[in-house]
Amino acid sequence: MNASASGLRFFNTFTRRKESFAPLEPGKVRLYTCGPTVYDYAHIGNFRAFLFEDLLKRWLEYRGFKVTHVMNLTDVDDKTIKGSQKQQIPLVQYTEHYTNAFFEDIKALNVKPADYYPKATEHIPEMTALVKKLITNGYAYKSEDNSIYYSIAKFKNYGKLSHIKVAELKTGARVKTDEYTKEEAQDFALWKAWTPEDGDVFWETELGKGRPGWHIECSAMSMKYLGETFDIHCGGIDNMFPHHENEIAQSEAATGKKFVNYWLHNEHLLVEGRKMAKKFGNFYTLRDLLGKGYDPIAIRFLLLSTHYRAQFNFTFEGLEAAAGAVERLRNFVRRLQDADGAGSGGRVAALTREVQAGFGEAMDDDLNVSAALAALFDFVREVNALLDAGVVSRGEADEVGVVMRGFDGVLGVVGEVEAERLPPEAEKLIARREEARKVGDWAEADALRVRLLELGVVVEDTPHGVRWRLEKKS
Ligand SMILES: [Zn+2]
Repeated sequence: MNASASGLRFFNTFTRRKESFAPLEPGKVRLYTCGPTVYDYAHIGNFRAFLFEDLLKRWLEYRGFKVTHVMNLTDVDDKTIKGSQKQQIPLVQYTEHYTNAFFEDIKALNVKPADYYPKATEHIPEMTALVKKLITNGYAYKSEDNSIYYSIAKFKNYGKLSHIKVAELKTGARVKTDEYTKEEAQDFALWKAWTPEDGDVFWETELGKGRPGWHIECSAMSMKYLGETFDIHCGGIDNMFPHHENEIAQSEAATGKKFVNYWLHNEHLLVEGRKMAKKFGNFYTLRDLLGKGYDPIAIRFLLLSTHYRAQFNFTFEGLEAAAGAVERLRNFVRRLQDADGAGSGGRVAALTREVQAGFGEAMDDDLNVSAALAALFDFVREVNALLDAGVVSRGEADEVGVVMRGFDGVLGVVGEVEAERLPPEAEKLIARREEARKVGDWAEADALRVRLLELGVVVEDTPHGVRWRLEKKS
């Protein structure tokens, strides 16, 4: 497959241009997405990134690519160590709690699992080997305190991703913390020699007693599972510097090869018009929102419904609207099951072709999800009008159902509208009621209808047999 054949275009942060997507290997995509630092519950800003990445992966799969997806778990860094010490529990126990919480959260949001979730603490030998290679290649050095630093002056492409000007930097100045600003760009720690503040968190390696820096973790784990060069690397825009800039410097200086072909970064999330921060009272984890009774699928829909490179303003009004939009899609799929008209004279087929083209072209164009959703909701409105008119045939409705399932494989918000939620005892009652109707025992059939209603199941007798739906709880 060549670039034009894939039809996909992505905005590559590295070149600041929209480029045709051509994977290294035809039909396959190797994808790395920076995972959570498991020191706290993830907040909705984190989930915006994870949902954008989920949408990207699902769209690549919709277009027929086999995606190998790696998402790391940062379970040792400045933040996890500080957190575990504050709670006075071992690091492993501390991070395990937040790791489990993370998996519960992404399951609630219907995020497709990655193929690999490597943990930093389980890849110390790979990181050690990578740092040794950087020393051998002349890009890393040991400081007085026995920590090992990356010499950014040695790497001629340093700053190319985030557009910082290295000439203005003081060479030899060093930063040991994992996070710092562009203005503080300097030699950064690959391996941090043990200090008493680290407590019992250290490894005895050929590099000495210490622990890895955050950035080397992602270089080591991405290349282990995806190879020295891979297709797509994603993350939030706030990770572009220093994290991704440093990943490139480490990986390319070690291998002499290009690290990543396409860098995709999602923009920030605002809440009610301002930066999300605990001090502004607008900081929400997923758990906070679920605790307020919101549907995780509505949250999913809301967070992925704005283009990933646009700033997104989260509001509760928007969340209500998202819940309504999801319900509209579910109702539409539900209604299709009852269609039994004489046929629309080709109208449904034309609309179906139109929405497939509209949705597909929008998503191919750097995941323009807002345009794709506009095409989808136009389609739903027009087919609903045909359903109202009673002209949609069984066959047409089935075809629309197939198309909707395809789109939902990408959006992940409709699911199996009926089958998943019928209470098991209701199934038996429906069968008994059918028996009663067959023998003309209307009193029994009506009594069973009432019992089903008590279970929240509404049964309707149609020319095609009995249909049921769950009563909407208000
Ligand atoms: Zn990372």
